[in-house]
Amino acid sequence: MLAQRATDLRDVGDRVLRILTGVQAESFTYPENTILLAEDLTPSDMANLDPSRVKGFCTVAGGATSHVAIMARSMGLPAIAGIEPRVLDLPDGTPVILDGTKGKLRLNSSTEELEHTQTSIARQKEKQAADLERAFEPAITQDGRQIEVVANIGSQKDAEAAMKVGGEGVGLLRTEYVFMEVSAPPSEEHQEAVYRGILAVIGPDRPVIIRTLDVGGDKPLPYLAMPAEENPFLGERGIRLGFDRPELMRTQFRAILRASTAGRALVMFPMIAQIEELKMARAVMEEERQKLGVPPIEIGIMIEVPAAAVLAERFAEYVDFFSIGTNDLTQYTLAMDRGHPKLAPYVDALNPSVLKMIDLTVRGADQHGKWVGVCGGVAGDPQAVPILVGLGVKELSVSVPVIPTVKAQVRTLSLSQCQELAQTALRLDSAAQVRELVPLEDL
Ligand code: PEP
Ligand code: MG
Repeated sequence: MLAQRATDLRDVGDRVLRILTGVQAESFTYPENTILLAEDLTPSDMANLDPSRVKGFCTVAGGATSHVAIMARSMGLPAIAGIEPRVLDLPDGTPVILDGTKGKLRLNSSTEELEHTQTSIARQKEKQAADLERAFEPAITQDGRQIEVVANIGSQKDAEAAMKVGGEGVGLLRTEYVFMEVSAPPSEEHQEAVYRGILAVIGPDRPVIIRTLDVGGDKPLPYLAMPAEENPFLGERGIRLGFDRPELMRTQFRAILRASTAGRALVMFPMIAQIEELKMARAVMEEERQKLGVPPIEIGIMIEVPAAAVLAERFAEYVDFFSIGTNDLTQYTLAMDRGHPKLAPYVDALNPSVLKMIDLTVRGADQHGKWVGVCGGVAGDPQAVPILVGLGVKELSVSVPVIPTVKAQVRTLSLSQCQELAQTALRLDSAAQVRELVPLEDL
């Protein structure tokens, strides 16, 4: 248990030391254009980063879909996780170029390289500004397929940011953030107020998909004592924990149901692996709904366990929609920990085996007339967007800063070409080959 929480423990230790020695880490000012190189970063380090000075970071720990990487995306910061430890030996002030898209940190760059990078950053900024101008228009492919581009959020602040950049709703509200901000389980009233606040920001007609509590794995809750597990990612995570703590689950379900009248709320269960779990969660939700006497809300599940993807056709009968959590679906399909630094280069949702899972999910949903979205990190990856669209995904839920870019990209695509591309990708042997199909230079 302590090993798992080593970073948190070090964070606390460091804070105590800082207080004892009178060092004011909170007010530490990084120089302009800082690239931070660290063993690991904690969520509290992230909260203290000044994005006007820190332009990106690299950590030795973690992977592209670990939760610090998710926070980086929502802050619009380029980052590399799982970098070689020797970078920590670089003296402060060493000029480096961080390419978050390619996952490369370049040292000893020539003047030309530095200039070239500055020019491409400026070009990217211009493109971002142009994308932002059209951010409130829908994302429709050249041949008329509309893709809903919605936001992954964890708070009302994120919801407000999403509305400013053309978000068409929320495809994933990670409610565990509501639970992480407090030191005891949040009450029904507290949760209701948070969900209502978010629904009010998003407005009466746009969807807000509220994912029920997904703790366990790499997201423990400090106030929730859980027995040590050999394999927390394969243990009591997500909905499984809910069944073990029915009061925690029912309280949240009630809060969601009560808030649901404030807008267009949908609910989504995480980590569903068996149809029985889905039926049980639905039954609890329905029981609470009837007690409260509120109207029914749409119910979906995350497809993030291979068992659910391969049997999607069966699951589809019992849901209104699926949202594919490629972060977990990739780690479980490939049996590679999403936070493992050495495996990080291979934990790629564009691996054809993961694409096959997505394909099965969409086909299964189609048979029952249900729609499929993707809310894992790959939904905002420019090399993945055409392939996901081609596989029949209707909604992309992405980190807030990339909403305008993803919408702009969809407008350049043709559904029929994307479909061909996706079929080709499904026949390839590796994620690298799939990425070669959609070269970054062409984007
Ligand atoms: C996922 O697994 O892809 C997902 C969106 O959920 P989380 O990253 O919160 O596990
Ligand atoms: Mg997940």
